[in-house]
Amino acid sequence: MKLLITGGAGFIGSAVIRYIIDNTHHSVINLDKLTYAGNLESLKTIEGDSRYSFERVDICNSDDIGQLFNQHQPDSVMHLAAESHVDRSIDGPSAFIQTNIVGTFILLEQAKLYWDSLEGEKKSIFRFHHVSTDEVYGDLDDSNDLFTEESSYAPSSPYSASKASSDHLVRAWQRTFGFPTLITNSSNNYGPYQFPEKLIPLVILNAIQGKTIPIYGNGEQIRDWIYVEDHAEALVKVLLEGGVGETYNIGGHNEKNNLQVVNSLCSMLDEMVPNRPGGLKTYQELISFVADRPGHDIRYAIDASKIKCDLGWAPKDTFETGIRKTVEWYLNNKTWCQRVQDGSYQSKRLQLGKTE
Ligand code: NAD
Repeated sequence: MKLLITGGAGFIGSAVIRYIIDNTHHSVINLDKLTYAGNLESLKTIEGDSRYSFERVDICNSDDIGQLFNQHQPDSVMHLAAESHVDRSIDGPSAFIQTNIVGTFILLEQAKLYWDSLEGEKKSIFRFHHVSTDEVYGDLDDSNDLFTEESSYAPSSPYSASKASSDHLVRAWQRTFGFPTLITNSSNNYGPYQFPEKLIPLVILNAIQGKTIPIYGNGEQIRDWIYVEDHAEALVKVLLEGGVGETYNIGGHNEKNNLQVVNSLCSMLDEMVPNRPGGLKTYQELISFVADRPGHDIRYAIDASKIKCDLGWAPKDTFETGIRKTVEWYLNNKTWCQRVQDGSYQSKRLQLGKTE
């Protein structure tokens, strides 16, 4: 099968593409605008494969998208392209509305036009898989509640509101036009190749450079963490085996508050990089509590039992195994980090790290 992946130069999209090329016989067209978050260096290990190709296109450009469908005749679409950083959405929501809502609308329109033109098996196998976040469900109180696929939407930030809007558009295209869609809502991803504005890479890189490790508020915000390679495997499974019109929540069963995450990283670095800068006795000395993010959600947690029952998927990595691999990767890939960091930290809040 020929799969069109949008946002394939980003953190999760590149993991999906590496997974497909390394583990399946399918081919991939990577459609990406290459914003500050897109980086083709994340695809170095597979870029020479004959089953991989790249197109630099903006999902908001309807002519280019239409042309791309006609040229490549994909069998399915997995849509990951988005603006994805909550802090950036607070500083400047406009790009989020444009790419996440208008861009998804344009992609849906062009994908449907293309699907309308298909016949036979090519038409019946076609799927449009929209990749979304658990943040659309808003905040859970401090109980044992979990987000299920039936939880109502209550997004808090411009980012999550824009993702919620795009989920609604995708559902409407399924319900109104019978367009064959799938939606997944996943918890916080972490792992190799994540842009260093996000919490985990930011902590690792700040710590080894002896820089302050900022934590929002009291650090008690709880997130469910999933290793990105587990998520990539789940996404491909849903695309190939999921039921048309279905939604699947994807989670790692790893609920941690931000302070626990940062403390685990500091302990791991104490063990792996004992030669600490500036005479520190432990990296924890770098932790500094800062004013909370506006509208910060307290707790997200996913019930991922549907994908397990229906598709037999469960994450392979625990937080402990995934975080060790992640720290090792960042320590061994400092050049990648340096290159993607160039010139991208603009506002004060952006230096604090995102907790999605
Ligand atoms: P990312 O920011 O790392 O990557 C986004 C990619 O989309 C980049 O390569 C960027 O160049 C591309 N892009 C942005 N605007 C575009 C446009 N207009 N046209 C074409 N390409 C464009 O994001 P990520 O963390 O890999 O997230 C991927 C998807 O998964 C997003 O839709 C996000 O909402 C969702 N998601 C992320 C997480 C997470 O923890 N990171 C969790 C759940 C869901």
